[in-house]
Amino acid sequence: MDLSYPVEAEVFRGEVRAFLAANLPEDWRGIGALSNEEAEAFTLTWRRTLFECGMLGIAWPAEYGGGGRTKLEQVVLAEELARARVPMGRVADTTSVKMMGNTLLRWGTEEQKRRFLPGILSGDEVWVQGYSEPDAGSDLASVSLRARRDGDDWVIDGQKIWTSRGEEGTWIFLLARTNPDAPKHRGISFLLCRLDAPGVEVRPIRVLTGQTEFCEIFFTDVHTPAENVIGPVDGGWAVAMTLLGHERGEEAATNPILFRAELDRLIDLARSQGRDRDAVIRDRLAWCYTMVEVMRFLGYRILTSYLQSGEMGPEASVSKLFWSEYHQKAADLALEILGARALIREGRRPLKHFRTDEPGAPNTTNSWIDVCLLNARAGTVYAGTSQIQRNILGESILGLPKEPA
Ligand SMILES: Cc1cc2nc3c(=O)[nH]c(=O)nc-3n(C[C@H](O)[C@H](O)[C@H](O)COP(=O)(O)OP(=O)(O)OC[C@H]3O[C@@H](n4cnc5c(N)ncnc54)[C@H](O)[C@@H]3O)c2cc1C
Repeated sequence: MDLSYPVEAEVFRGEVRAFLAANLPEDWRGIGALSNEEAEAFTLTWRRTLFECGMLGIAWPAEYGGGGRTKLEQVVLAEELARARVPMGRVADTTSVKMMGNTLLRWGTEEQKRRFLPGILSGDEVWVQGYSEPDAGSDLASVSLRARRDGDDWVIDGQKIWTSRGEEGTWIFLLARTNPDAPKHRGISFLLCRLDAPGVEVRPIRVLTGQTEFCEIFFTDVHTPAENVIGPVDGGWAVAMTLLGHERGEEAATNPILFRAELDRLIDLARSQGRDRDAVIRDRLAWCYTMVEVMRFLGYRILTSYLQSGEMGPEASVSKLFWSEYHQKAADLALEILGARALIREGRRPLKHFRTDEPGAPNTTNSWIDVCLLNARAGTVYAGTSQIQRNILGESILGLPKEPA
């Protein structure tokens, strides 16, 4: 197996490193080393720098505001930003750029791409994800939020739930039932709706960490223009699956770097607590090291397949399942190392609510409690639960018989 990158990718890597050296402060130790206020201000300025230098949406065509580079260069950029401990954008870009933008590129009409992609990159329009409902989570095709045509509009009625950063969004992409008479996967459309439209009500939900990271959103007689449907009317299921592929798999390049940085912090934590000579702790740390290495090779495999086909297939489920289950075990180890200290919250709290704390973050109990202990629990639920990933792997990759309906 040849794990080296082609020469042109390494040339580009050199360009990215020069860009980072020119644009980051000399004493840069990572976004996690800043206070929360400093990190928020830095992220906004940094995002603008990435945008102005064509590094946000780097592989998107230039006519939509992208960088016009290759997907391989996109992978190299993601790796180098993670190594330099800087974010690839703000947290909302996960839904805006990664999910909505990439899905629009695949399914949007020319007019839709020209209308929405530049606003996604500039950050003027912020997207949130309206998939889940109280009775439709794993069984996503059961969505019951209705949309009916009324002249030049769709009229939306129903409820979404678990909408991450719902209060920050300006737009929502929705799975809506547009044909109640069709079989459940075939009567769904992928609709876009402004969150300030009359009849939309966003209610925050308080979570385990005490924060209100996600919301429930109610729609009563909400109008959105007829052209705000992506892909075929009643054929939104395929669009929805494209988006989930991006949600689950695009992290294959950065996860091994971020989880390695977290593991280094965990080893430092063991040393600082005098637990690094404990044979059981050492054994568990060695297991974590092995898992992060496996994650790296798995990432290469997934990226190779993505670069060859241009699509995130069911392989994305392998990545999602692997990192989220690993993270809970690493979190349990952090808790054991901290011992009774884990009961006392102290120090900087993490800004993001998924995967690892920001690289460079100090070993505070708040960091391990929030990101690792509480948020790691959610890792095997969001973007599809572990059981659902296993079903996908069984059916789509291993060719096992389908689960009975
Ligand atoms: C932090 C976080 C952020 C989120 N953000 C968003 C968001 O922005 N937008 C959005 O739309 N949604 C979001 N979600 C919702 C998320 O997608 C759902 O929680 C998830 O899909 C599971 O659905 P559910 O909660 O309804 O659980 P259920 O589907 O009710 O599942 C309950 C349990 O049953 C198991 N189960 C269900 N079906 C099967 C089966 N066929 N075989 C085996 N086991 C099964 C599940 O694995 C799970 O353990 C978020 C969730 C979290 C935790």
